[in-house]
Amino acid sequence: MQTPYITINLKKIEHNARNIVNLCEKHGISIAGVTKATLGIPEVAQAMLNGGVTWIGESRLNNIERLRNNNINAPFMLIRAPHLSEIERVVSLADISVNSEYEVIKALSECSLKNGTVHKIIIMVDIGDLREGVWPDELLPLVKEVIKMNGVKLIGLGANLTDLNGIIPTYENNKLFVDLVEEIEDKCKIKFECLSAGNSSSLKLLASGGIPDRINHFRLGESILLGRETVDREAWPDTYQDAFTLSAEIIEKKRKPSVPIGMVGQDAFGNTPTFEDKGMMIRSILNIGRQDMSLNGMNPQNPDIEILGASSDHLLIDITKKQDLKVGDVVSFDMNYAALLAAMTSPFVKKVIV
Ligand SMILES: *Cc1c(COP(=O)(O)O)cnc(C)c1O
Repeated sequence: MQTPYITINLKKIEHNARNIVNLCEKHGISIAGVTKATLGIPEVAQAMLNGGVTWIGESRLNNIERLRNNNINAPFMLIRAPHLSEIERVVSLADISVNSEYEVIKALSECSLKNGTVHKIIIMVDIGDLREGVWPDELLPLVKEVIKMNGVKLIGLGANLTDLNGIIPTYENNKLFVDLVEEIEDKCKIKFECLSAGNSSSLKLLASGGIPDRINHFRLGESILLGRETVDREAWPDTYQDAFTLSAEIIEKKRKPSVPIGMVGQDAFGNTPTFEDKGMMIRSILNIGRQDMSLNGMNPQNPDIEILGASSDHLLIDITKKQDLKVGDVVSFDMNYAALLAAMTSPFVKKVIV
């Protein structure tokens, strides 16, 4: 088998999806399964749909196109704001998009009208994480303009926390969102059908009963793919954390010192490394590097193996406690989200679906 490779266990992804969807359903929340970390692998989307998610959320149109071309049948939600330069593709590929800019929404509306369709949108509101979204005081004027447009249908409002600045979802910031929603509904005499206010960082709050009733939609990626909520990165009950594993091949095995010889300057990435003297050790090189993974997000499945460092194309491990490993053997790792994203994006890592 060609190395390095990532194995993708569809049964585990489906199990994770089903388990989390069931919890959310109990609280009246439906789910867009977010496949962006896999670059829109059709089998992964299908596993999520089998597990009960009702929409697929994607950040990139190319991934939606890939999913559609492979017969994935679901409403597609574009979860990154559309670019003015790609309006026609947005309207033809996405059923729903998240938005925060008047010019973009106007362009979406005009393009849909020309095609004789109506594009659904959700306006994102910034409730504190300072990534995407309209600041609360600008929401009412924008909504008033958008509901006059005939080519778009404003189906709801959304919010996203944690992803950029780590702001934790609380009852208070969710309530702030719902209060805003209800104020807009009152003033505009409308009722929103979709309040999409959470991602994997909202699961703990949901389980403890802290998500206000009106919120009825989450967009979930990491919790389904890796079985973790994303405030404390705790394993979510009854889910798998190892639906994805990255495996690489030993290309060198040598007995060498644990401390390098010579004066220490910067490494290839501008860091000045430090070393602990453990005497002589058995060091191995694996055929993956920083181009294929995130060093801090790699966890060897065998606890006797320790990671020493990595450059672009080499990952160094200490196998002193596991000396029977030899050149040509394969070593496997669990990954965090950053490592998964890098491995999925690397063209050098073969994707193996099991
Ligand atoms: C990536 C993303 C998500 C999914 O987040 P997870 O933490 O992986 O659940 C949800 N919403 C938006 C807007 C995103 O960009």
